[in-house]
Amino acid sequence: MKKWFAVIGDPIAQSKSPEMHNKWLEIEGIDATYIPILVKPEDLEKAIQSLSLLGVSGFNVTIPHKTAIIPYLDEVDETAREMGAVNTVVRLSNGKLKGYNTDGDGFVRSLEDKIGIQKRHLPVLIIGAGGAARGIAFSLKKHGYQNITVTNRTRSKAEELIADLGTGNAIEYDEASDTLAQYKILIQTTPAGMKYSDLHLPISIDRMSKETIAADIVYNPLMTPFLKHAHNIGATVVTGLGMFVHQGAIAFEHWLGQYPNTNLMIEKLTSQLESE
Ligand code: NAP
Repeated sequence: MKKWFAVIGDPIAQSKSPEMHNKWLEIEGIDATYIPILVKPEDLEKAIQSLSLLGVSGFNVTIPHKTAIIPYLDEVDETAREMGAVNTVVRLSNGKLKGYNTDGDGFVRSLEDKIGIQKRHLPVLIIGAGGAARGIAFSLKKHGYQNITVTNRTRSKAEELIADLGTGNAIEYDEASDTLAQYKILIQTTPAGMKYSDLHLPISIDRMSKETIAADIVYNPLMTPFLKHAHNIGATVVTGLGMFVHQGAIAFEHWLGQYPNTNLMIEKLTSQLESE
């Protein structure tokens, strides 16, 4: 039977995952397809049962279902459970559904594609403590980053993340703005700068130094105001597109056992986003 994959979310029409995965399936010569499915929060349980019944081989999970899906899965990978979020589900050969989180590792692969693996000792500041920030923090720790600080509008969420991580500090926005130059890797994980969003950066970045490595996880537009500022002062810039492509590639590998061509996909989506 032809394999099929999906992404579930609400909204879902804007997702670039179908285009990315269908292109990889075509390149790898795999007879399968990947479709977007709009699933409202109140329909999540029924949707998962239906996907399973209809023989899905695997699916991605996006906003707002990443945490809500966990009770409906038969198994959850240990890291995803720690993160409290699942973005990839594999239907195992026994029909059981197993959840993973590929967002954090996708981010670290993208970061290290740009800066290599020699900078894991540098102090990191994560702006935001939502689902994506959690995945990134756990993955940074797993890869040996030893010095992680989180700043978030809701201080208690930053503190909770640091407590779950078992290392690092939670600080207020003001302190983050004042001490910005001491952090050598800055990771912007709020929706600030996203197309159609009027959310401004929640902290002042005037004190960013030109030795900084500035990464944003928003990828549409590619150059957010945070990254434009970093670029203008001569800092290193890591766009959110690499994270998006690598999280998809790791999901593809969970489903099909092979890592697809990420460079080609980054090039293709970059030119598409630049022309939008
Ligand atoms: P989330 O769980 O809803 O977290 C949102 C974060 O942004 C929280 O820290 C939240 O702070 C903060 N925030 C929201 N509105 C704010 C405001 N008005 N002022 C200050 N802070 C605000 O979302 P998420 O899943 O982490 O996603 C965050 C962003 O990352 C989205 O733009 C998403 O598209 C992007 N993303 C990109 C990738 C990729 O592959 N590149 C993957 C996943 C997500 P509070 O805790 O105080 O609410």
